Amino acid sequence: SAQTDLLRRKLEINVKGNVVPAPILSFSSCNLPQKLLQNIEAAGYEMPTPVQMQSIPAALIGKSLLVSADTGSGKTASFLVPVISRCANFRNGHLQNQKKPLAMVLTPTRELCIQVEEQAKLLGKGLPFKTALVVGGDAMAGQIYRIQQGVELIVGTPGRLIDLLIKHDIELDDIMIFVLDEVDCMLQRGFRDQVMQIFRALSQPQILMYSATISQEVEKMASSLVKDIALVSVGRPNK
Ligand code: ADP
Ligand code: MG
Repeated sequence: SAQTDLLRRKLEINVKGNVVPAPILSFSSCNLPQKLLQNIEAAGYEMPTPVQMQSIPAALIGKSLLVSADTGSGKTASFLVPVISRCANFRNGHLQNQKKPLAMVLTPTRELCIQVEEQAKLLGKGLPFKTALVVGGDAMAGQIYRIQQGVELIVGTPGRLIDLLIKHDIELDDIMIFVLDEVDCMLQRGFRDQVMQIFRALSQPQILMYSATISQEVEKMASSLVKDIALVSVGRPNK
């Protein structure tokens, strides 16, 4: 609508491709689990940042997104909030004796994975939402054991995840959200084929791709993962 266009212009949000819902102006306006709202508040987040205003409502309804926004603009919570909400709702609505992972976040480095997992634990406290870290430098046996005990989210680097998938039979067919953080950096580090290999082990998940900059290579990868991805850019385009 004209109102949505005006709001997006004010927030410097640009949307292209697939249709996505209007930006939200508060965390409480999109039906998040009560516990998640409390955790957001406890983290000191009073208002969503522009990238969160647009990504959260779109990701919550299952849209695949390619999002670009500056460093420090709050991209982590913009994918963790919908990931946690969708995972917790799924677990609450399904009786299962075998808990397979529901979401996966790939980042280019161990340090980034640790940061993302820490924030996920903070925002997911008190919900049916457990996390596993799959990075180099720690024993793989412990990482496998944790996944086998039942987790909702796996956070890992592409190389270590491939190692784990080749050596162990981890069932990934329940993964409904696949997040690629810092895609530009992952491509620069030569992770393209490993990311594609992991993607092929999944069954048509929602894709959330985040990047500080969108190159042709990033766009090419996005379109090879999903047909109709929506492009969301925040801030002035292509600085
Ligand atoms: P990016 O991934 O875009 O570089 P981060 O997700 O790491 O940015 O967020 C940068 C900082 O902003 C972090 O310290 C994070 O806790 C904080 N932050 C994120 N969202 C909000 C918010 N809505 N309100 C206040 N601070 C926030
Ligand atoms: Mg980030």
